[in-house]
Order: sequence, then structure tokens, then C-alpha cells
Amino acid sequence: LTILLVGSGGREHALAWKIAQSPLCGRLVAAPGNTGIAAVAELRNVKVTDADGLVALAQEIGADLVVVGPESALEVGLADKLAVVGIPCFGGSQRAAQLETSKAFTKDFCRRHGLPTAAYGVFEDAASAGAFLDTLTAPFVIKADGLAAGKGVVIAASRAEADAAVLDMLGGRFGTAGARVVIEEFMHGEEASLFAICDGETAVFFGAAQDHKRAYDGDEGPNTGGMGAYSPPPALTPALIDQAWRELILPTVRGMAAEGNPYVGVLYAGLMLTPAGPKLVEYNARFGDPECQTLMPRLASDIVPILLAAARGDLASVEPPQWRDEASICVVLAAQGYPDAPRVGGLITGAEADFGDAVAVFHAGATRDAEGNLRASGGRVLNVCARGATLREARDAAYAALGTIGLEGGFHRRDIGWRALSK
Ligand code: ATP
Repeated sequence: LTILLVGSGGREHALAWKIAQSPLCGRLVAAPGNTGIAAVAELRNVKVTDADGLVALAQEIGADLVVVGPESALEVGLADKLAVVGIPCFGGSQRAAQLETSKAFTKDFCRRHGLPTAAYGVFEDAASAGAFLDTLTAPFVIKADGLAAGKGVVIAASRAEADAAVLDMLGGRFGTAGARVVIEEFMHGEEASLFAICDGETAVFFGAAQDHKRAYDGDEGPNTGGMGAYSPPPALTPALIDQAWRELILPTVRGMAAEGNPYVGVLYAGLMLTPAGPKLVEYNARFGDPECQTLMPRLASDIVPILLAAARGDLASVEPPQWRDEASICVVLAAQGYPDAPRVGGLITGAEADFGDAVAVFHAGATRDAEGNLRASGGRVLNVCARGATLREARDAAYAALGTIGLEGGFHRRDIGWRALSK
């Protein structure tokens, strides 16, 4: 098969690494890809938001399957355009991707289908937002409706802070993403991510993970795209997975289909494990980054038949995915100044050594200079991933590898996995 992979991050390197292992994969092309992906795929320089360019590329190479990494490609309608030319796409339509791209859409969907999530209201003016805030107690959760790169959520400790956040968002701080604000009841509990692969009608469980959003040890510092992750998360027990599956995932896939909006691709449920059971924090229409980097090494099955069957609406025809009975971890090596002002150009050393079968280094923001050296080209630079019989073993292997990798000015968290390891 000829497969086109869309994206350029660590998530896509992990996907490329796994796809390239498949005996079914004859040719793998990535757009735009990165230095790590270049080791297993041909790179073509088409942007992830250039839907027409990607369709043209898929046609040119005769792609049998397009696998979409980032939501931004879905938001510009890549899957819809591929459907028009009859190329199977692992990734949702623009309308289905609203489960990620519009918080108001998702909250209204949850209400229509009785899915467990925080109570909420959607507002376009400060007065009605204020009236709803009057009915809640601190802390307050204020969100810009649209995509705001993880920065559109404010957890306000006081009412004054909540009012200021509402005014800020409606005032255009996030452009049109903030034209509507969503205000939610605060949910208490531990967070975990559950992944399902969907074919429009049905879904299969595709692992779970927990990530670390804050930049520094002890979950301190600014929010980031994610500084590390591990899988499986002990807090998300089989019983809770089962409950989330029955109460959230299946009703979502069925509800989307019933509303004429069938959901294809990864359904990533951000869950809050509250005392009353798992509740939905958010849906994403793609794999998490860096969660994906912890799932791929644990996946024992060939991924290609699963992605292809989902894209063709035929998941029932493939064996459910099998997982290694092991834990895995991903530690992000970030550039100095990340997330606010990452310094690019820092020299990377030791990243391409042979770390053995249990360790994989996935490239994110790395590029190769004229001398062939790796250099930082983004905020999150490398993902050092390892698997082991236990999470502790996986963690020790990842940090041992990381200890031999250098990045000028770079930093990483030293406590990835702490929540699970402290149990
Ligand atoms: P991300 O970049 O994580 O995808 P996002 O902008 O899509 O973020 P959410 O995932 O909805 O925003 O919220 C971000 C974080 O804020 C959540 O991971 C959670 O920690 C916290 N949060 C959001 N909603 C609630 C809530 N109702 N109660 C408690 N915490 C919440």
C-alpha cells in the first residue's frame, strides 16, 4: 500500500515509525514530515493546512490511505476533500471534527445525548455570562469556544478573575475563537486520556495515557503542549474504561452517526475521574502529542489494517488491537525558553545513537543543518520514549537514554510519571 501521513511533530514520527513496520506498507510519504520521519518515509513539502495541495499529493502518489495527524488539517476539510476524490482517509470530516474545534458544539452534543460532563452555559455577552457565573461557586472555568492552542482556558480562582477572563475573550483576545465563551462547572478529580478508533458507526479501544501539561517539575510553571506522558495510567482502571466506553464513547459514535455526522478517526476523550465516575473534559479529533508516542511502542498489532478499516468504515472486519503487557513513557526534551519564547538553533547531540529495542527517540522540533548536525527548530524538540515491564523500568530506561542526549540550553521534566509511581 502507498500511505500518505500528514503532519510534522513527534506524534507523526511515532505514527510513521509504527506504520513503516507494517508489511502492508509499500511506500510511506509524509507531508511535511520532519528529520526523524525522513528515516522511514519520503518527505514532501506540503503544509498541513493546504488541503488542496495534500489532495493533489495523495493523487499524485496514488495513495491508498491518508493518515492525518493534526486537527488543523481536519479543520480545513482535508478528509472531506479526499472523500470527493475517493481516497480513504483516517481522520474526520470538518463537521465531525467540531467535537474538537468547537467546545459549544461538543457541550450541546453532550446535553442532547445525556453524556456525563460539567454543567455549562454558552455566552456571547458579558451580562448573561455574569448571570450564569452567579449560579456557580469558585473556581470558575472559562473557555474560548474555538481553537486557541490550549491557551483559551482560564481556571479562575475568584469571581473578579472570572469576569476579567470573560471580558478578555469577548473583547477579541483570541480572535473569532473567543466570540463565544463557554463557562463550566469545575470538576474535581484526576485526569486521564482515553483513545478510541472509530469508523463512523463503531469504535475500538485504542489505549489510554496520562500527560503532564505544565512546563516544570511538580506540575509547576506555564501550560505547554505536553512535557511527557505515560501509558497505561493506573488511575483509569478497567472498570472505569468500561464505564467511559458505555457512557461516553459508544453514545458519542452512535449519536454522531444518528445526526448524519459520522465520526471517523481517533476519538480522544480527555476525562476527569470524578467521585461520580468519568466525565468528559474535552474531545479531540486526533491522537494526543505526546500521548501517541507512548501508545505506539505498546501496540503489538500491525496498525495499518486498523487505520485502513476505520477509514473504509469497516472496523468490524479486523481483529481488535493487541497491546504489549508493558508500560511506556515519553519524556519531552524542550528548547530553552519553551513555551513562551523557545530558542531555536541549539545543537542536539547523541540523539541518533542506538538505544536498543525498548527505547525510541521521536523527533518533534528538530532539523538538520548544512553539516548534518541536528538542531532545535521548535519548542518541543525530541521525545525520548521507553517501554518496560513496569512504569518504573520504562521511566529509568527513558531517563538513562536522555542522560546521553544533549541540547544546548534545553530542559526536560525529571518527574514524568510521578502520579502513577507515587501510588
Ligand atoms: P488542551 O490544550 O488541553 O486540549 P483545551 O484548550 O482544549 O486544552 P480543555 O481541555 O477543555 O481546553 O481544558 C484544559 C484543561 O483545563 C483541562 O485539561 C483541565 O485540566 C482543565 N479543565 C477544563 N475544564 C474543566 C472543568 N470543567 N473542571 C475542571 N478542570 C477543567
